Order: sequence, then structure tokens, then C-alpha cells
Amino acid sequence: MTKRRLKFWGWGYEDHTLSENESLNIASRLKTLTGLEGNTYLTPPKLNEISLPKTRIAVPNRLSHLVSQTDYDRASHTYGKSYPDYIRAFNRDFSCSPDGVCFPESANDILKLLEWGSEINAAIIPFGCGSSVVGGIEPRVGKKFSSVITIDMRKMNKVLEVDKISRAARIQAGALGPQLEAGLKSNGLTLRHFPQSFEFSTLGGWIATRSGGHFATLYPHIDELVEALVTVTPNGIMESRRLPGSGAGPSPDRLIIGSEGALGLITEAWMKVHSVPKYRKSAVVKFNDIGSAGKSIRALLQAGLWPANARFVDSEECRLAGVNDGEYHMVVLGFESAKYPVNELMDKALECMKDYGGNYKDAGDRDETADIWRNAFINAPFKREGLIACGLMHDTFETSITWDKLADFHNDIKQVTEKAIIQSTGKPGHVTCRFTHAYPDGTAPYFTFHAETKRGHEIEQWREIKTAASNALIRAGGTITHHHAVGRDHMPWYARQQPSLFNNSLGAVKKSLDPESRLNPGVIIPLGNGNESSLP
Ligand SMILES: Cc1cc2nc3c(=O)[nH]c(=O)nc-3n(C[C@H](O)[C@H](O)[C@H](O)COP(=O)(O)OP(=O)(O)OC[C@H]3O[C@@H](n4cnc5c(N)ncnc54)[C@H](O)[C@@H]3O)c2cc1C
Repeated sequence: MTKRRLKFWGWGYEDHTLSENESLNIASRLKTLTGLEGNTYLTPPKLNEISLPKTRIAVPNRLSHLVSQTDYDRASHTYGKSYPDYIRAFNRDFSCSPDGVCFPESANDILKLLEWGSEINAAIIPFGCGSSVVGGIEPRVGKKFSSVITIDMRKMNKVLEVDKISRAARIQAGALGPQLEAGLKSNGLTLRHFPQSFEFSTLGGWIATRSGGHFATLYPHIDELVEALVTVTPNGIMESRRLPGSGAGPSPDRLIIGSEGALGLITEAWMKVHSVPKYRKSAVVKFNDIGSAGKSIRALLQAGLWPANARFVDSEECRLAGVNDGEYHMVVLGFESAKYPVNELMDKALECMKDYGGNYKDAGDRDETADIWRNAFINAPFKREGLIACGLMHDTFETSITWDKLADFHNDIKQVTEKAIIQSTGKPGHVTCRFTHAYPDGTAPYFTFHAETKRGHEIEQWREIKTAASNALIRAGGTITHHHAVGRDHMPWYARQQPSLFNNSLGAVKKSLDPESRLNPGVIIPLGNGNESSLP
């Protein structure tokens, strides 16, 4: 049996690539729904059609078992999964591929690779599964380095230990979502952290980017599930103590969580896990206006009912997902428990939604409308590939904001984005919004936009829209990212969002852990010398 290989240019496995006809059908459906037209179809790249730059490094014998320089490995570690990543891949442009890709099997291997990186003056890019949509793993590292090596963590992918008493598990950082869930399942346990990219992203990537899972309100970020970490840095190994809630000063784990490969390589983590849920109930509540839907979710969360899911989806996004004809907005609700039936909780939640004008019809334990939405959500990355191939821009950006500012914020960002699309493409686009996560004090608006493009100008058109939207997010008091991370793309806005004293302190930490500044240069900490990261 041959092993399934991931696409070197896109989402998922090579054998799950849409045909030209499938892509054209998706584009034609979008045209019917939005009026947006694609242009000539671009065939996805094949390995023999691209030319990689000559590698600048020779691998020493002592490390040859850890390093690959094959075209497939170098090409598949060049880009993440952002819109400009796709465009460059479709243009067969792999000019910034790494010189070598390393596959360590232990912390000791990583120490050796870091030492080698220093000998050859290489920039070093930690890599999970390359699902970054913010330029987090792209070898765009400035001019100071003689080469770039990428360290892919996926050979370190085991659940090493389970503590059933404390309900925690020690898991290697390179484990993909399905691998770690399979390892936990045999113990009746689950991490229940489900980013949309679950299948093709790793635990280490989640921790390094503060990822947001989808079936957990209150604590959707991976942060709250981390109990302890092992991190390999150029200055040695940092291992934190397993503790349920230490109050001893600033936390070493909090320093590493969200450090996006710039401070060290996370090799393993003790994670808090849960029993597999036995009782589940989902419901879809219809709303006529966005304001009331938002207020109902706020009331629900502030009442201390923590649903597994409380997601607002606007009517246009419902229409595109095939949920309805755009006649209502919806809130998808879900409750689950390993121990107790959740009907009573759901009844209370529905009562709360009704107080704000929510309309609900009982559909049993599992609402089919919620399933239609869920399937569209899971298939979205594949459809996106088809749309991009057909010359349509499809991208998302996300943020968070407190409830008091939500209404104005939502209107402002939507309008700015719509205007920017017209300015950059000459035609109206299509902008929708959902609130992917909700908290007692605010929510995470997630915008999806579609636009027509001019062949050869896609990246500059995208850059104009992305810049306008990012400026608006920061101006209006939001964050540049709720869960997609900073990467290289968001650096200008991250720098504006954080207090400058904090930015300086982070720079000092970097100097201590990574004195030669080799790890993921330009991410989280500026490159310096006026050579800063920004949009590609
Ligand atoms: C279709 C799609 C859906 C997505 N949905 C979600 C979502 O629902 N929620 C969400 O939060 N994100 C989502 N993302 C973004 C992305 O999946 C996350 O950022 C994810 O956490 C990245 O994991 P990865 O293993 O692929 O890491 P990579 O993309 O390989 O790396 C991401 C960053 O983490 C660093 N890194 C990776 N592994 C390590 C390690 N072991 N030690 C130190 N640094 C490391 C890298 O250097 C880089 O800066 C989505 C992306 C796509 C393409």
C-alpha cells in the first residue's frame, strides 16, 4: 500500500484535489449566489513544473539521517495556506524554499540541529504541519542568514503517558489532531480541541500559535489546556513543572504558548484532557437581526451556561453554506457532557435566546441545519482551493472585541472591507461574518470575503484589502488575530497593538533564549535594520 502524501502546494492529501470541472462548478455556484465571476482556470502545480533554487548547504554525514533535500520536502515546506501562498504556488513560484528540511525524532536531535544551524549561519524555522495562514513558516527571513533550514516536528507524534487520575496526558508536539485523539481514545479520553485545521495541524503548532478550538466556549484557546511544556531552545532545554494552578510568578508556559517558533521548539506537553462526551444536543436558533443574536449569546455566557458551541452565523454566510436562502441569521448551539444529560441546559439556553427574539423549532437531539453548516465548514478549505484556481479571491480574517463595542465594530470592519474590495478590484465583492467564539466579556468576529481578481495582480489586490481591514481592526480597538496568530503577515499590526515596553521585554527574552536570533526570524520579534516583516 502506498502512503498518502500531502499536497506540496495546498490543503490535505494529493489524492483529494478537485478536478477542473469540480472547481468550475463551485465557481459557477458562487456566481449564481453573488454575481462574482472567475477568470481562466489555473491548473494546480506539479512537482516537475517548478524549479527550486539551488540549495546553499551541504549536510554533514553525522546529520544526514535527519535532513532531507528532496524537491518534494523543500517545496512542501515553502508556504503555509494563506491566499498569497496559493497564488504563488499556482504561479509555480517556489523561489524562497528552505535549503533543507529536518525531521528530528528527539529533543537531542533538535539540539544537534540547532548547533549545526549556528555553524552554517542558518535561519531555523520550526514547522508543525504548515497550516499557518499568516506566513508563520515561510522562509522570509531577511538578509542576515546564509541559508534556511526548516525543522518539521511530525516524527515526534506519540501520546507518551496518560495520568488517568489527574486526567492529563503527555503528548509529543508533532502529533496531528487525529493521531493524538487516537492515542487518547483508547483510554476513554479526549483533548476536545478542534480547530478547523484539526486533521492537518499539530499539537506543537496549536500551542505555538494559541489556536482556537471550535467546540468549547469559555476556554476555546489551547492555552487553558496546557499543564506543562518541554521546549528546546538554542540555549538549552526548558522544562516546566506539572502543576494544576501554580501562582508562582509569571508562568514559563505562558511565555512559550503563542511564541510561534521564535523562542524555542516545543517538543512535548502535558495536556489537560477530558472524558469522551456521552450526552449531546444541538439546536439552531433563527434571528432577524444581528444585534439581538449577539445580545442573546452574551446573556447566555454571562448566565454561566457554558455551551460547547454558541456560534453566530450571518444570513449571507448561511446562504453561501446552503443552510437557507438568506432569510435569517442563525445561532448554532451545542451542549455536551460525559456524565449528565444536557436537555435541561439546552432548554435554559433556548429560553435565553427566546428572550431576545430567537426563533426555535425542536429538531430532536441533533439539528440537521447544524449538520449542513458543519459539513460546509469542514469542506470549506477544499472549496476555497477550487475558487482560487478559478481566479476568485477567497480569504478570511478574524479578531475579537468586547461586547460593548461589537455593533459599531462589526459595521465598521464590514464597510471598510467592502470599500477596499471595490477600490482594489474595481467591483463590489462579498463579505460575510460569523462569531466563531464567545466569552462572557466579548466575542470573536470572523470575516470571510470573496472578490473578483485580475490575473497577475491577485497579490497586490489582496494586499490592499488585507491592509485596509487590518488597519480598521486596530483602529477600532480589536486584535489583529484571535486565533490565526501573528506570523510574518501581521507583524506591523501586532507591533501597534502591544505596549512598546512589552515589545522591548519580548526582545530581551529572545536574546536570552536565542542569542543569535536564528529561530523563525521576523515572527513576534522584529527583524530590525528596517527590514521588517509584513504582507508578502
Ligand atoms: C483551513 C484552515 C483552517 C484553520 N482553522 C483554524 C482554527 O479553527 N483555529 C485556529 O486556531 N487556527 C486555524 N487555522 C490556522 C492554523 O491551522 C493554526 O495556526 C495551527 O495552530 C497551526 O498548526 P501547524 O501544526 O500546522 O503549525 P505550522 O503552520 O507548521 O506553524 C505555525 C507556527 O507555529 C510554529 N510551530 C509549529 N510547531 C512548533 C513547535 N513544535 N514548537 C515551536 N513552534 C512551532 C511555527 O514556527 C509557526 O510560527 C486554520 C488554518 C487553515 C489552513
